[in-house]
Amino acid sequence: MRRLLPLLLLLCSLPLHAAETEGYRETLRALDAVRGADPVQAGELQLLPLADGAWLHRSYLEINGVRMHANGVLHVHEQGITVIDTPWTVQASRDLLAFLQREYPGRPLRLIVSHAHDDAIGGIEVFSDAGAAIYANAKTAELARRQGIRAPQWLITESFTLPGGIEVFHPGAAHSADNIVVWLKASRILYAGDVARSRNADSLGNLADADRAAWPASLRAVMQRYPDAEIVVPGHGLHGGQELLVNTLRLLER
Ligand SMILES: [Zn+2]
Repeated sequence: MRRLLPLLLLLCSLPLHAAETEGYRETLRALDAVRGADPVQAGELQLLPLADGAWLHRSYLEINGVRMHANGVLHVHEQGITVIDTPWTVQASRDLLAFLQREYPGRPLRLIVSHAHDDAIGGIEVFSDAGAAIYANAKTAELARRQGIRAPQWLITESFTLPGGIEVFHPGAAHSADNIVVWLKASRILYAGDVARSRNADSLGNLADADRAAWPASLRAVMQRYPDAEIVVPGHGLHGGQELLVNTLRLLER
């Protein structure tokens, strides 16, 4: 129970939608089953262990008086550190960088941006200034340039494998035209970003740049490519297993 309590406190602080609380107990069990210690608070950022060398990073932003959160993943390897999506804000991105510099000084830094929305790319300048190699879909770079944001320098069109068993895959348009997913082979973690909704989400979220017609086929391409995924991390909400992908498909097809 000692190990579970901080998770409970963490989860209680999340702005869960009513429907998401249905899976609450189950998710707590899943989280408790994940090897690892308590969540770490690094300034405004929270880090939740997912597997050896892999963390979920969670950052917060208040929108119209509602405290929202966004997820990303952190992968620590002897050869270097990979951050998947920047925290939502510049401050939380600085907090993550400070944590990494303190805990893993001198390791090469790499950033993968899943798409050109603030909750994925908002802190890019912090990582760029720190000398990170930044990877994204070529479309993400184009969108970033149009928004006046510093653009990633390593561009992906369909898929790309990075050292450390990390695969980046653009399945086609879904939540956005440029969205990519990231596969961490050794730990069987799929960072689906906003291509997937959380297990019990009852809506598709922000559809401003979504392609609803293309999304189901893109999602199926992800499911077919990563049948071994054990942990699926969505861009927002609670992570889980492949049921997140199934739930997202259900939301798309209703
Ligand atoms: Zn988005």
